[in-house]
Amino acid sequence: PLFQNATFYISAHKLSDLPPPAGVEVAFAGRSNAGKSSALNTLANHNRLAFVSKQPGRTQLINFFSLGNERFLVDLPGYGYAKVPEAMRKHWQLTLANYLSQRPCIGGLVLVMDCRHPLTPLDRQMLDWYSPSGKPIHALLTKSDKLSRQAANQTLQQVRKELEANWGNCSVQLFSSLKKQGVEEAEAVIGRWLFT
Ligand code: GDP
Repeated sequence: PLFQNATFYISAHKLSDLPPPAGVEVAFAGRSNAGKSSALNTLANHNRLAFVSKQPGRTQLINFFSLGNERFLVDLPGYGYAKVPEAMRKHWQLTLANYLSQRPCIGGLVLVMDCRHPLTPLDRQMLDWYSPSGKPIHALLTKSDKLSRQAANQTLQQVRKELEANWGNCSVQLFSSLKKQGVEEAEAVIGRWLFT
């Protein structure tokens, strides 16, 4: 696998903690509990690389994982967790927005969505906001094992149609960390962003 050598690099609590932009990084965003940490672990072929939290929304850190040669996977704090105090939510929204707008080295954004609840209002907000950057966005419809094959494919087509109609520069696929479905497809997209 492409990302087998991923190692923890740094955790940033605030923007000033971020390493200076260098090389290429791919950012992973998504609603809390969408399966982002699991997807990162699956892609990096490494259990608990990104801590799979039982308490969504608690890991309010930007975590960098190094692949060597100044290539990074970046785990952004999950959004939309209701139990986070309003002030903290605001702070993290701002940090997320600043991170995404201030890093020229971002090669693309992976948007992680639970295939049973794709394109929530906050996901749409993220797309509205990030799509104009012109950077590519790849949506992972995670937990695809939770749907029948037919239902999963229907969701895939529906989401693809919506993405094409409303935002440019987007692609989408099904993904399951549990069944290791869609791993090669995701690696191909992310690998292209990182290494070409
Ligand atoms: P995050 O908050 O987005 O990082 O989500 P996590 O990766 O921590 O996953 C949230 C919950 O969904 C956990 O209970 C995971 O075990 C579960 N989960 C994640 N990915 C999958 C998957 O592909 N299939 C199934 N069935 N469950 C998953």
